[in-house]
Amino acid sequence: MTSPSDNLPPIEITPKDLSAYRSGNRGVDYVHTFDSGRPGPHVIVNALTHGNEFCGMMAVTHLLEQGIRPLRGKLTLSFANVAAYHRFDPARPFESRFVDRDFNRIWDDATLDGPDQSVEARRARELRPIFAEGDALLDIHSTSHAVPPMLIHEPQAKYAALSRHLHSPLHHVLLPGVMHPGRPLIQFGAYGRPDAAPLGVVVECGQHFAASSGILAISITMRFLDFFGMIPADLAAQYQPEAGEPKRYEVTRVVVAQSADFRFAQPWIGFEELAEGELIAMDGDIEVRAPFPRCTIIMPTRRILQGRDVVSLARPV
Ligand SMILES: [Zn+2]
Repeated sequence: MTSPSDNLPPIEITPKDLSAYRSGNRGVDYVHTFDSGRPGPHVIVNALTHGNEFCGMMAVTHLLEQGIRPLRGKLTLSFANVAAYHRFDPARPFESRFVDRDFNRIWDDATLDGPDQSVEARRARELRPIFAEGDALLDIHSTSHAVPPMLIHEPQAKYAALSRHLHSPLHHVLLPGVMHPGRPLIQFGAYGRPDAAPLGVVVECGQHFAASSGILAISITMRFLDFFGMIPADLAAQYQPEAGEPKRYEVTRVVVAQSADFRFAQPWIGFEELAEGELIAMDGDIEVRAPFPRCTIIMPTRRILQGRDVVSLARPV
């Protein structure tokens, strides 16, 4: 017999007490905006879109504790799904991803303007006007499995210079258009529109509870702020990108569980490369097979829910 806890990863990062950051200065809990008083972009660094992804919390608390202030423009620091974060239980560390529904699948007007009274929809409505002000949004995440960290954004031209500057992490996942059932935060409003300037990127910093994920989140955040000229050069110089050239993948299909009986054919963790036709999963009686050569598994979920995306399929580009 095995119990669920036999497969639990070590918890190297534990939740910090965020009560000192609750009041903030925006009239919305857990949000701070710092205005340099000089012209420049409004840059947002967002943590805890998922309640058990602690690396973003490490990065945002680092900026707050170090008293980092923007040299130009405005800097907003937010902790998004604190309600889920407060539910963390080390015996069930994967269950505090959200309270009622995935906070990262509700950023369309229909949901935000609709009747949904979930914890996440109500929190999203509080944050919406603040996120709508941003010229750039870094949304910090981590992964269930210990896979290489990734930078995720749309393949639009407007992302090229930022992506080049960040360089790390070295796996770049391009997400062309909305393909998930429910819109992710980085595709909210102007961030997702090719004709609008605002930039929204996700960084997946490694496994949720690994100390290295918190260290990477701080480094990527500093490089993000440096791209916009918001921190001093000597501070930015402490955060050099990894050596090597980024590998790029384009997501071409998001697999949604059609049945309540969806199961993976292998214990995929991510970045496995499959031959065309290889079996990925069974969805009830239906086979889900790799639809093209070099089909790369991206972020298979641990929590399979009918009607929700369970894995993305990408091709190397
Ligand atoms: Zn996440």
